[in-house]
Amino acid sequence: MSAGRRLATALAAAAVIVSPTLVVAGPAGGVPSTPSVEGRTPDSGVSTRDVQPLAPPAPLVRSTADSARAVAAKAARRPLFAFWGRKYNRLDGFGFTTAVRGSGTGIQLQAAWKTYRGVKPILPKKVFVQARVDGGKWTRVPGARGKIGRTLVTARIPAHVVPAGIVAQNVDYRLKTKKITKGPRKARRSVASDRVTVRFENQAMYTGEQARFYAPIANLCPNASVTIDTTGITEDHTGVFDWQYGITIDAATLATLTREPEVSKLGISIHECAHAKQFYNWGGTNQDWSTLVARSAEVFVADNNPDPNVATVPMAPEWSPLEHAADCAKELISPERYRTYGGYCNAAEYAAAGLLWQNQRY
Ligand SMILES: [Zn+2]
Repeated sequence: MSAGRRLATALAAAAVIVSPTLVVAGPAGGVPSTPSVEGRTPDSGVSTRDVQPLAPPAPLVRSTADSARAVAAKAARRPLFAFWGRKYNRLDGFGFTTAVRGSGTGIQLQAAWKTYRGVKPILPKKVFVQARVDGGKWTRVPGARGKIGRTLVTARIPAHVVPAGIVAQNVDYRLKTKKITKGPRKARRSVASDRVTVRFENQAMYTGEQARFYAPIANLCPNASVTIDTTGITEDHTGVFDWQYGITIDAATLATLTREPEVSKLGISIHECAHAKQFYNWGGTNQDWSTLVARSAEVFVADNNPDPNVATVPMAPEWSPLEHAADCAKELISPERYRTYGGYCNAAEYAAAGLLWQNQRY
């Protein structure tokens, strides 16, 4: 059996999927936050759709019992460094391998690597990042480098900017190892990971509904993308900050809400833009999210307006510190409260929420 066959066999046996590590404010039917809003909460905090990070598979295991001598003889030929297939790649720490991002946004790419159990691999001295635009030629991404961890190679990739006049570009990224020059002949090679694909949209070229909902955040979240939901990304919400598709707006449903003023509808973009700030100000990866959630709970609290003469909007069941932060950030920009998770933004919360707009963590 060739080394390649053994790699393939073990791959089939070793797939492991863990349950999602993220628990966020669930969707579910909202309670009307104000009478004029026809029963919709502003959004869900993030989409829980398709976000399960995949655990990298276990190292390869030899199932046959070899004599010690045979193992030793074969081990010398098997210090191979290789990548697992595409399903183990991660984009910004999530288990999907395609995404939509706005021009000017960077991503994190991870690929699981493997070798044979019990064999110390010869690690490549460097792991480069390669990109190809719209299916063109693979070229090296300057300033990006893969770091080899215990199970994953991780690379932070600088922002991609779509050239003026181009609507969008599909960019594939992969990791490529510097050729190993020592050790057994079979180990002396360069290997490439499978790819992830990002559609980068040029916000300056937005038209129609994309332009409408990008306009209120052009100066707040200039690098964000606005996806108009046609496939149910937002589920039963009218807007969402989705890990895979970015700020997503259900424009068709909003069109049916004829009693809701435009300023409120555009406020959805601002609220989602605040979620984007939460994500990117905290590092822009799934790995950083729990830190943000914990910090949000320290700052954003379920309190009422201390002034007995001012009624506080009751808190929706989906109220959470994370959502309250986005609400308060939105109110700093657009104070109307047609849509809100309810509650009261106190001075400390407004100050903290304001930091989001300065690209800082609260
Ligand atoms: Zn929200």
